[in-house]
Amino acid sequence: MSDAASSTAIIIGAGHAGGELATSLRNEGWSGRILLIGDEVHLPYHRPPLSKAYLAGTTAAGAMLIKPQAAYDRAEVEILSGVHVTSIDRSRRSVQLADGRELEYAKLVIATGGRPRPLDVPQASAAAGCDNFHYMRTLDHGERIRAQFAAGRKLVVVGGGYIGLEVAAAAIQQGMQVTVLEALPRVLQRVTAAELSAYYERKHREAGVEIRTGVQVADLEVDAANNTVTAVLCNDGTRVPADLVVVGIGLIPNTELAAAAGLEVDNGILVNEYAQTSDPDIYAAGDCTNHPNALLGYRLRLESVPNALEQARAAAAAINGNLKAYASVPWFWSDQYELKLKMVGLSQGYEQLVLRGEPQSDSFSAFYLKDGKVLAADTVNRPQDFVAAKRLIGESLPVTAEQLADDSKPLKELLPA
Ligand code: FAD
Repeated sequence: MSDAASSTAIIIGAGHAGGELATSLRNEGWSGRILLIGDEVHLPYHRPPLSKAYLAGTTAAGAMLIKPQAAYDRAEVEILSGVHVTSIDRSRRSVQLADGRELEYAKLVIATGGRPRPLDVPQASAAAGCDNFHYMRTLDHGERIRAQFAAGRKLVVVGGGYIGLEVAAAAIQQGMQVTVLEALPRVLQRVTAAELSAYYERKHREAGVEIRTGVQVADLEVDAANNTVTAVLCNDGTRVPADLVVVGIGLIPNTELAAAAGLEVDNGILVNEYAQTSDPDIYAAGDCTNHPNALLGYRLRLESVPNALEQARAAAAAINGNLKAYASVPWFWSDQYELKLKMVGLSQGYEQLVLRGEPQSDSFSAFYLKDGKVLAADTVNRPQDFVAAKRLIGESLPVTAEQLADDSKPLKELLPA
């Protein structure tokens, strides 16, 4: 290994985690070369607005960069954009690029995120080549979808998760005819209680979205001559005509590079609390990792911006010999219509749901309780409840259902000074 290579840190993936890592590495004291390699042609950008403000037309692509080029220049981060990393050779401590180059590293970080889970139906590959059939992960996806949004057009959204519902909200507000097809009995079933699902289904229906739950997509009707999908075919025999289709049915973590290099992978690249993989010179951060969380007491893989950023910072610190365990309470957000939903914690295994405030007022919170402690909270237009819930969960503070439900007293009164 050359002198330069022996002080080179390479980051694969220029998304939320990769971009944060690159500058954090420098701030934490890395004095060697830092190379950020991403296969998208853009500098790292904010992904959440893709299904929110960007689709609504209120944010432009240029405004979505996480940091300007100047910030990377200042940190002396070299960025290789539009370049795919094809393999990692751990014995040579190098990565191979699609353009044939080989680059050596002293420390490597894998921040490859994930890709949309493809629809598994007979005509899926024919549809993938159609102009009006879309997944939603990248700015390029967002651009294509936005260009096809027009009043009166029929949009079919496959998947009633956050991304699908955000796309539906943006579309109906632009005068489109929107149908959401969800396979499970209710929207947001994997992430929220039935009360929240019912609330969101009602809000969408009031806005004019047709929500159909418990319905599986059986196939797509493809007009090969015109290169378009003309309808979505459901297993109950119904045909839903479409001018465009957006599929949002989950994510597959990009772990193949790590697995092929012999790193341990199990629903994500396995890392420790310092974001280190089973190879001490290779770290990983973001959606592609499966990490332990000491606060929760188990391993998990998260798909959220706060996770990507905080894990990236933990990796940057650890690479510089400064061990700061990553152990945050997970949190997420979703914007639909005028509703700002912020969620904190994970509700699996909860025993009791407590509502604070009235859903009818569009300002309320739902707390998921177990053994007198809050596991998670969903807060709708209630930033103050979110802040308090984050502490109740993070500090494992005891509370009663009555205290949480009593909307006449601020939640902060339940917190130690
Ligand atoms: P990414 O941001 O996906 O970055 C990974 C990058 O690595 C990509 O650019 C990818 O192309 C690149 N890459 C992969 N393989 C290679 C390779 N071999 N060579 C080179 N480059 C490679 N989270 C929230 O917290 N709140 C939200 O409201 C929210 N809304 C979202 C809305 C949408 C539409 C989407 C798609 C996601 C949303 N998320 C939200 C999730 C959030 O964006 C992700 O959790 C976050 O982007 C994860 O960051 P990451 O760096 O791990 O992955």
